[in-house]
Amino acid sequence: MRLNGRLSWRDLGKPRADMAHGKTVELTGFPVTILPTPTADRFLMMAEPGCCQGCVPNNPLAVVEIVAERPLKLGTGAVRVTGTLHVDADPAGWRYRILGADLAPGLSRRSVLAASPLFCLPATAMAQATDGTAVDTHSHAGNLIRASWGREGLLDIATPMKKGGLSVACLCIVADSPIVQVSSGRLRPVREPKPGELYDFSKVQFAKVHELARTQSMPIVRTAADLREARASQPSVIVTSEGADWLEGNIERVDEAYQRWHLRQLQLVHYHPNELGDIQTEPSVRSGLTDFGAEVIRRCNALGIVVDVAHGTFELVKRAVTTAAKPLLLSHTALSDRPKPWTRLITSDHARAVASTGGVVGIWPVADVAHVNSYASGIARMVDVIGVDHVGIGTDQLGLLGPSSLPSYVDLPQLAAALSSRFKPDEISRLLGGNYRRVFEACVA
Ligand SMILES: [Zn+2]
Ligand SMILES: [Zn+2]
Repeated sequence: MRLNGRLSWRDLGKPRADMAHGKTVELTGFPVTILPTPTADRFLMMAEPGCCQGCVPNNPLAVVEIVAERPLKLGTGAVRVTGTLHVDADPAGWRYRILGADLAPGLSRRSVLAASPLFCLPATAMAQATDGTAVDTHSHAGNLIRASWGREGLLDIATPMKKGGLSVACLCIVADSPIVQVSSGRLRPVREPKPGELYDFSKVQFAKVHELARTQSMPIVRTAADLREARASQPSVIVTSEGADWLEGNIERVDEAYQRWHLRQLQLVHYHPNELGDIQTEPSVRSGLTDFGAEVIRRCNALGIVVDVAHGTFELVKRAVTTAAKPLLLSHTALSDRPKPWTRLITSDHARAVASTGGVVGIWPVADVAHVNSYASGIARMVDVIGVDHVGIGTDQLGLLGPSSLPSYVDLPQLAAALSSRFKPDEISRLLGGNYRRVFEACVA
């Protein structure tokens, strides 16, 4: 194809564009499709990145319709297109079309990267990807940690959840927070708790979760039916504890928390080595899960509480797998080929053990680059190891020491968009919540 001229977006609406009618032109821009799609033979193109029909300006001079004879590979960034410019006088249609379009090579990597993340994805497109059923398996959103200390107030989480399309957040109290501090870059216990101390503080924190749910009109999920009904239009809360230190070895407190606080998810261990088993960030002293830890798992399975093995050592997880009668959750971590000492990341075998129970591994938004694309890559890496039915999201919002690649739930559609370069909509729906829902339903009657 002989090129007659390079078309610039600034030319549109000017005589230079009209004079190019019928000529072969080249134009660089950003394809617009409802959900990002790998290929398309007919699409709209704009000067700026957008991602959906809602982004398309009404101004027909700002949009070019591209018509190709075969599907063109789009990716997620800018494309350079060549074809025959057709200038149409019909006021109902797009004024400019490029017919017989094909992709031209030579687009710089920089311009492709500049296109991500996509700037918006309206509720309709998000609903296609998640049915409004997304679940965060691990979160301290709402400023729960600081608010429990009385230092700061609770923050609005219902609004960003609605905007981002998140229907449920597993909101965690932190069992050992009175005795844990950052020391040389990692969280460590600074002392042993006093008898009753962590139990008493857990009650303050559980009450905060309830206060947050009440003041933000968020239903608390108690049953599988509650979860099935949960939608992003009125987001819900699953009451969760990060660490079971407040049990202080008393199994009946599992029942108490189930009844009194509607606890439906319990992470066995955290940063303080407790009665249940060994943790990843301190030397092992219990050879994995203790007998009491096993008893807690059996009690959770009997009552209907999801068991979360995050922060536990691989040895703990292995015994938990043989103990549990229901699928396990490992709510917030990431895959590592060569884990460093005291890492919170897990190996492939560790992840496979959780998946073998029919369970789910929630991926953390921590990465060298805090960007939804890196979060999507972390999710995809775990899918490569344990499959698309066993991965979820655990944002640890307001619980991370470093930057997050998903700092607000408002950004969730961007994550869905980033995942769509690799996964089909029904797979994205499972990754963002469907898989967790399956685990919850299996555990909670
Ligand atoms: Zn944690
Ligand atoms: Zn956490």
